[in-house]
Amino acid sequence: MKDFQPQEIVVESGSEGGVIYRNLKRAFPQVPFIAGERLQADASSIASLDGFGDAKRRLLLARHRGEFLKKCPGSDGQVCCNYFVINFASNCPMDCSYCYLQEYLAENPALKVFSNVDDLIREADDLLTRHRKFFFRIGTGEITDSLALDPYIGFCAEVVPFFAEQSNVLLELKTKSDCVDGLLTVDPKGRVVVSWSMNPQKVIDADEHGTASLEERLAAARRCQAAGYKLGFHFDPIVEYPCWDADYRDMVGRIFAAVDYRRIAWVSMGVLRNTPALKRTMRGRFPETTLLSGEQILCPDGKMRYFQPLRVAMYRKMLGWIREASPTVFVYLCMESKEVWEQVFGFAPSCEKELGARMAAVAG
Ligand code: SF4
Repeated sequence: MKDFQPQEIVVESGSEGGVIYRNLKRAFPQVPFIAGERLQADASSIASLDGFGDAKRRLLLARHRGEFLKKCPGSDGQVCCNYFVINFASNCPMDCSYCYLQEYLAENPALKVFSNVDDLIREADDLLTRHRKFFFRIGTGEITDSLALDPYIGFCAEVVPFFAEQSNVLLELKTKSDCVDGLLTVDPKGRVVVSWSMNPQKVIDADEHGTASLEERLAAARRCQAAGYKLGFHFDPIVEYPCWDADYRDMVGRIFAAVDYRRIAWVSMGVLRNTPALKRTMRGRFPETTLLSGEQILCPDGKMRYFQPLRVAMYRKMLGWIREASPTVFVYLCMESKEVWEQVFGFAPSCEKELGARMAAVAG
């Protein structure tokens, strides 16, 4: 993937001196570090035609106020998988044309990293200790990419050793990068899944700007597996275009040939989703994208998706190719209704706890 080089780093008072600050200083000796007050630094005061894109080139280091750990909000009416998220950063240095953060962070697009990692670990420790009988799945990739900033901030080296010692959690690090060096010297002790969002190279070239290539993602996955990490793959968003099926079939075959599929924790599938507001942003920021040309319908959760019969047909094809390569790997749908689950798998989990428990069992 492309190296990240911010134009400046704004450091909020109280964030100097910590481990993330020291790592950034080491990584970017040439970049100006500017002291900034919280409100000034937070404001999306970047007056240009592409304020969201510009925000990705200015890094803000700030303390996180409030709780780091949150239950994944899921989506109304869709089967949820009972997942928790840790927001250690906000926004992402890469720039996929379909990224929902363009809408979700529209009012607050600053590329932000939180400096108080010690508070994050304390909070996680407290939660995991208070609920020893509950098995948690926690991810860090909800409002940022889990690994793209890691070579510069060294976040994983701080948190993976903590999670590796816990008995009731799986930490998922979700990425489209190949930034895994910081993971390779830490023993995850079976407690960490590194997962990749995967798409054919054609989609990566057209719509996943600044991300690692398909081959780079596979090479990184192989290195993580060799270092003891479990793997996950997310076919999300699956994009429909002429001959999409040949490209996706080829990609599925390459993935399952590249890694030991018996040590894949889970695979998910989800088709392209957006909203009317996100479509407007995409048209403005990525006028050349072809993702807006297919027909989509508005679903009850406010998201636009391909027609249900088309989605079901796409999922069934994908599932068939996955099953050819690995009859037993755990596959689930992301943000889909029970009706779609039933048509694809012949069943739907009866509640979010059931799906969460199934995932914990296969990965545990
Ligand atoms: S890698 Fe993920 S978070 Fe980053 S721009 Fe792409 S979709 Fe958004």
